[in-house]
Amino acid sequence: SCTIHTSPLVSVPSKPTIPPPLVSRLFQPSNFREGQEGGDMTCHSQRLMLQTGLIHPSNPGCFYYLPVALRSMEKLVRLIDEEMHAIGGQKIDMPALCSAELWKKSGRWELMGKEMFRLLDRHNAEYCLGPTHEEAVTELFASQTTVSYRKLPLLLYQVTRKFRDEQKPKFGLLRGREFYMKDMYSFDINEEAALQTYHSVCQSYGRIFDRLGLKWVQVQAASGNIGGTLSHEFQLPADIGEDQLLVCGNCGFSANIETMEQGQTECSQCQTGTLTESKGIEVGHTFYLGAKYSQAFKALFVNASNVPAVAEMGCFGLGVTRILAASIEVMSSEDAIRWPGLIAPYQVCVLPPKKGSKANEATLVAEKLSQSLGNSLPNLRGEVVLDDRVQMTIGKRLKDAKVLGYPYVVVVGQKALEDLPSFEVICQQSGETMFLSKEGLVDLL
Ligand code: ATP
Ligand code: MG
Ligand code: MG
Ligand code: MG
Repeated sequence: SCTIHTSPLVSVPSKPTIPPPLVSRLFQPSNFREGQEGGDMTCHSQRLMLQTGLIHPSNPGCFYYLPVALRSMEKLVRLIDEEMHAIGGQKIDMPALCSAELWKKSGRWELMGKEMFRLLDRHNAEYCLGPTHEEAVTELFASQTTVSYRKLPLLLYQVTRKFRDEQKPKFGLLRGREFYMKDMYSFDINEEAALQTYHSVCQSYGRIFDRLGLKWVQVQAASGNIGGTLSHEFQLPADIGEDQLLVCGNCGFSANIETMEQGQTECSQCQTGTLTESKGIEVGHTFYLGAKYSQAFKALFVNASNVPAVAEMGCFGLGVTRILAASIEVMSSEDAIRWPGLIAPYQVCVLPPKKGSKANEATLVAEKLSQSLGNSLPNLRGEVVLDDRVQMTIGKRLKDAKVLGYPYVVVVGQKALEDLPSFEVICQQSGETMFLSKEGLVDLL
């Protein structure tokens, strides 16, 4: 017989108390100087990220992602996961090392040219470091002998490093040679269903950018060497953007200049508006592929009449590390980072008084406050840092906090020692300053 063991609720171990991360201990090397190898700082997101120790240059187009930036990236990935799961996406992870065989099958081994990192294994077999994964995922699908139509749409995605030997890696994470991409691939029973999937992914991309609080445009795009017939890019308007966009002042139709709209001044959609040019950073790209890959790899499913049929595909990319840098690029000022609230590395920074100051006793209050806030609400768990560099003035630390862009800074001073203790709270987004009790602070956060 079988017994199910249930433990009484009281014995469920509670989560451990998290001590507040200490700014003095964060690995955040900020000694980077302009002109140093790998740091031709050509845009302010790159300069801010290098100078605040979020990233550190390695070889051209490759960076060390340091702890503070990685926190932000992990939050971004969680947000993307949430949206992908909401439309039925299933997360996988495919090898970065891809056999040339697959790429020859699709005809892209030659086509990719110098952008592809190619290598030989010890048996002299040819490989590449995956720049994208249409071939791999289609091969995976095709390896299933009988996929019922009832299993479709199938949406598989991954968040992995991609490798592209870019001619000009630049702007830090905006154009790297090794970068993170979220790539999703869809398999459907027919064109109609595939287009429905296509639109639902486009909608989820819009939601991701909305939730990040970014201004974005969806533009008609060329499908490049990926192929397919329908394609859109998600662009963040920005002067340093490398893509030129045409936007109709009348109907809002937008296109990348790489499409047929080139040289046009009149809108092809409404035929009355004029197209004006602007620049954007491409942060996402969607493609309806039809049967381009599924035909070549014999990616079949069994349809309702029990007959094998070729699946219709789509593919959908989001530049994870590019979104991280691009949001800093478009939201920050020249000398201070602003994060989309949802992906700020830490939500709150608590500043105790300078060592030896009149309010010295408030140091303990600050330590307790950061510990209790950081263990209070679920959304604040681990999110409260303590800037314990008490040999530095409050002013100097405030300046650092401003550059790093914590959404909230809490200064613990003389007023924290009064009978009704209060704290100076600076909301960096709005620049507003207020004095709040601990309860008021918890309410605010
Ligand atoms: P670009 O036109 O900027 O070279 P792409 O069109 O070659 O980009 P896609 O193949 O559409 O890129 O890849 C999907 C997404 O991956 C892009 O929309 C972008 O956000 C991101 N991406 C592409 N190349 C890079 C890169 N070198 N560094 C960082 N992110 C990149
Ligand atoms: Mg490219
Ligand atoms: Mg492009
Ligand atoms: Mg693209």
